[in-house]
Amino acid sequence: MQFGCESQTDKSVNVKKINIAIDGFSSCGKSTMAKGLAKKLGYTYIDTGAMYRAAALHAIRNGWMTGEGMEEEAIRESMGQLDISFRKDGKSNQNTYLNGENVENEIRSLEVADGASRISTLPFVRTTLVRLQQKMAEKGGVVMDGRDIGTVVMPDAELKIFLTASPEVRANRRFKEMQEKGENPKFEEVLHNVIERDQRDTTREVSPLRKAMDAIELDNSHMGIEEQLDWVLKQVKRVKS
Ligand code: C5P
Repeated sequence: MQFGCESQTDKSVNVKKINIAIDGFSSCGKSTMAKGLAKKLGYTYIDTGAMYRAAALHAIRNGWMTGEGMEEEAIRESMGQLDISFRKDGKSNQNTYLNGENVENEIRSLEVADGASRISTLPFVRTTLVRLQQKMAEKGGVVMDGRDIGTVVMPDAELKIFLTASPEVRANRRFKEMQEKGENPKFEEVLHNVIERDQRDTTREVSPLRKAMDAIELDNSHMGIEEQLDWVLKQVKRVKS
């Protein structure tokens, strides 16, 4: 009887699904860590940056966001028609869908990255997307990455990680990623994009990027992917035990 009770408790510890928030600067390796972790744990990965990117793509396509500025009223009115979701393809890769269309590749351009950083300063965009993200995390078992996950979206997440790395290291990672995709970016341009987005993310009025009080900080400038994954899995084990 006693034994049965104990094994039941152990089992419930093992299957207990927590929520994990991963925040940090642009191109810090958040999504690599979050994806790897979600795969290991059998959790759902939610890329909130992709949601801001999809919203920006929608605004760019409709001419509401140009180099000159943003048409805030048009963007505000369109929020109700914005349908952003994630679907896995045959190879288990997660793709971002905007109103039923797979926009995964398109949202990864520098233009859309810059647009996402600009559109994410609008309070009504944040309110809409945060609500959607909270709905996605309702049942637990979620690894979510972004800028305001531990502070605003999932303040009750059982585990919060805050990733950092120097701007040069981050720009170099993004630069290589783009080259691997067959693009031909200029390093200076990528570095400028990283620094500019840091500046916007940390100084915007609504939900600026900051480390949650109870987040654990990791500077991964000199760490490999496997090493980071081992580290974060140890944190999960600690929280779940
Ligand atoms: O993470 P990623 O680089 O894809 O995010 C694109 C942009 O969306 C960021 O530069 C940031 O300004 C914004 N963002 C945000 N809050 C989040 C996720 C992303 O403001 N939770």
